[in-house]
Amino acid sequence: MITIALIAHDRKKDDMVALATRYKDLLGQHALLGTGTTSARIREATGLNVQPYLSGPQGGDQQIGGLVAEGKVDMVLFLRDPMMAQPHEPDITALMRVCDVHNVPLATNVAAASRLLDSLADE
Ligand code: PGA
Repeated sequence: MITIALIAHDRKKDDMVALATRYKDLLGQHALLGTGTTSARIREATGLNVQPYLSGPQGGDQQIGGLVAEGKVDMVLFLRDPMMAQPHEPDITALMRVCDVHNVPLATNVAAASRLLDSLADE
């Protein structure tokens, strides 16, 4: 069992719900956490137990970045909206950076997230 962080920007939340629905059985075998709204959307749609942190604009990305730095997160699935700058862009950049610093796998789009989740199924 690993710990997976789930984050999606507003225009990517439907994609995140679809991804979580598609991988529901697999995700259910792991510890899940996420930013506030993303967590709520996944929970509502799938019943998966996603531990909610603050909403991204309220500091949720920073909270999750802190957990990555502490070695408490094993994988980050972060569906970013590349078309629209977010007001908390520095936090987003910092979260992605801390994943690279600590060599934590990070997916920023559905295709990469699917590949990472597929790799868990193969283990
Ligand atoms: P949200 O945060 O899931 O609370 O919307 C995501 C983000 O904006 O980084």
